[in-house]
Amino acid sequence: MLTIPDYRLRLPGPTMVPERIRQATALPILNHRGAEFKAMLAECQKRLKSVFGTAHDVLIFAGSGTAMMEASLANILSPGEKVLVVVAGQFGDRFVSIAKALGAQIDTVDVEWGHTLDSTRVAERLRQNSYRAVVMVHNESSTGVTYDIAAVGKVLEGASTLLVVDSVSGLAGAEMKMDEWGADIVVSASQKSLMCPPGIGLAAISPKAWKVMERDGRVPSFFADFRRAKASLDKGETPFTPPVTLVYGLLEALRMIDEEGLDNVIERHRRLGAALRAGAQALGLELYNQPGTASNTVTAMKVPQGLDGGTIVQHLRERYRTVIAGARAARQTGKVIRIGTMGMVSEADIIMDLRHLEATLRDLGQPVAAGAGVRAALDALSVQH
Ligand SMILES: *Cc1c(COP(=O)(O)O)cnc(C)c1O
Repeated sequence: MLTIPDYRLRLPGPTMVPERIRQATALPILNHRGAEFKAMLAECQKRLKSVFGTAHDVLIFAGSGTAMMEASLANILSPGEKVLVVVAGQFGDRFVSIAKALGAQIDTVDVEWGHTLDSTRVAERLRQNSYRAVVMVHNESSTGVTYDIAAVGKVLEGASTLLVVDSVSGLAGAEMKMDEWGADIVVSASQKSLMCPPGIGLAAISPKAWKVMERDGRVPSFFADFRRAKASLDKGETPFTPPVTLVYGLLEALRMIDEEGLDNVIERHRRLGAALRAGAQALGLELYNQPGTASNTVTAMKVPQGLDGGTIVQHLRERYRTVIAGARAARQTGKVIRIGTMGMVSEADIIMDLRHLEATLRDLGQPVAAGAGVRAALDALSVQH
């Protein structure tokens, strides 16, 4: 029988999968076009709408988040059309690479990594050029910054330009009000705050985006053609065989979110993120993000002078069985470490993270005040909101 090491998986995705969800994914396979499975898909659909903050369709695909980033652009572009990509980190860079691969013309709004976006910069570009879409990342996992989607949505109000958003690491951990904010396509995936195994990609789509997608002469796509998925969804199915057991898991996760209450889930992510940041700073680790920009779901910390991020990650894993992430991009190599607060995370997890981080820094010769991180985290957790 297959076994795996008993690690504390503290990455910014994939995340720990609660036992209840793992049990659901171990159930036998149903006929994917039978009545029972259709009922599950319908319940997922209803519950996903509330998590996305939309009244419109949410498509379920087999695939990772990147598959949905690519699909979101492939479905709205004709060859040579222009997009404006906000680049504030590695996932913004990924959108540029995808747009390039699809033959789009690309302009970028480059934001200093870790900093906020001034939405007037997007408005200025829109005055100079016409774009099929503005493309941006809600929660930039490489830097630990959450971006204001509503501010960009406001800029696009009344324009024909679509707003395409990657909320892979934001959804279900940070507030998402797709319709209210004016986002047209929001993509996500199962393995972050949705606390499921990797393998499901999601795309929520506005009526304005459907109009653009119904055109002829689009960039070719087949498996990820949203029109085909929509035609099946209208019959309560998916066009191709879905990852049946992952859909069980997703449904269980969505029920768990509903039981806790979506607002409570997001508030828990906020509190735990704040506690982790407070603890990290008390251990002498500077945050990668500017004040006031911090993400609920990813804490990115600068590595102290003289230490290497890779060494910290390795030591945490080998000595303390705590698995965290290092840098996402070449330019950050060795200079940043990242921990996720996504999904089924508790106060106890944050306290343990900080104990292991403190011990690791000390093991590696860094001066740290004993217990400072845990104390600061406990203080932050005691603040009432
Ligand atoms: C994790 C993540 C993705 C998706 O990555 P996959 O490995 O393809 O699932 C996309 N965008 C952001 C911001 C992410 O954090």
